[in-house]
Amino acid sequence: MPELPEVETTLRGIEPAIAGQVINSIRVHQGSLRWPVNPNLAQLVEGQTVTHLSRRAKYLLMQLDQGSMLVHLGMSGSLRIVQPNEELRKHDHIEMQMSNGSLLRFHDPRRFGCWLWSEGPHQQLAHLGPEPLSDDFNGQRLYQLSRRRKVAVKPFIMDNKIVVGVGNIYASEALFRSGIRPDRASGNLSLRRYTELAGHIKEVLAAAIVQGGTTLRDFVNGNGEPGYFQQTLAVYGRGDEPCIACAGRLKEIKLGQRSSVFCPRCQR
Ligand SMILES: [Zn+2]
Repeated sequence: MPELPEVETTLRGIEPAIAGQVINSIRVHQGSLRWPVNPNLAQLVEGQTVTHLSRRAKYLLMQLDQGSMLVHLGMSGSLRIVQPNEELRKHDHIEMQMSNGSLLRFHDPRRFGCWLWSEGPHQQLAHLGPEPLSDDFNGQRLYQLSRRRKVAVKPFIMDNKIVVGVGNIYASEALFRSGIRPDRASGNLSLRRYTELAGHIKEVLAAAIVQGGTTLRDFVNGNGEPGYFQQTLAVYGRGDEPCIACAGRLKEIKLGQRSSVFCPRCQR
């Protein structure tokens, strides 16, 4: 599933080809995504300039002259700049032709992604917490919002109202680096431990974005499925394997219907 670093990398990959360009045409081959694509999308946006691209949580926002398009990659989506003569692949649902000749394709086999148009603000962005890499996100915030809460710390930091874009991989890795068990009650952790945790969340996300820069080509010109980052993961996906720190056996549990791997010796 595309996580925040993949979305950020996608943004950086497509931006040079899209930003400042006029939309010559947009074609929707399959509009039945997580939310239906506006059937009048082409009429609404053709001729407008994409003035600016940005990311908020795992959404990509394309600002136009009079409104904006909000794109989410869902479970399996990707955006690529393709050669003009490249054949349409199965699951290429939307394509956008720019005035500089660039062709952007939205590919999404499972169709949990979205491509929404709005003249005003998008309601999907209305109640989101701060960006994890911004100064608004810190240990103080985690500490204050968790007081008297019984929810386990891992689902707590994966809650978009607390902080956006901390997916299972990054939550698991940041908790390991902080020595915190994923099932600890969030209300029982000290400010010091939350400060450490916030720092590690920033660290793992920033490292993945840096690493993403090196695989940028996969998002821009690649063929087939987009490649996700081959990060060195200490715990995620490593249930029953030895801990890289103490060589003990990593434990896998279900937390909020998600698999969570941690080291019972290193994480408390
Ligand atoms: Zn360990």
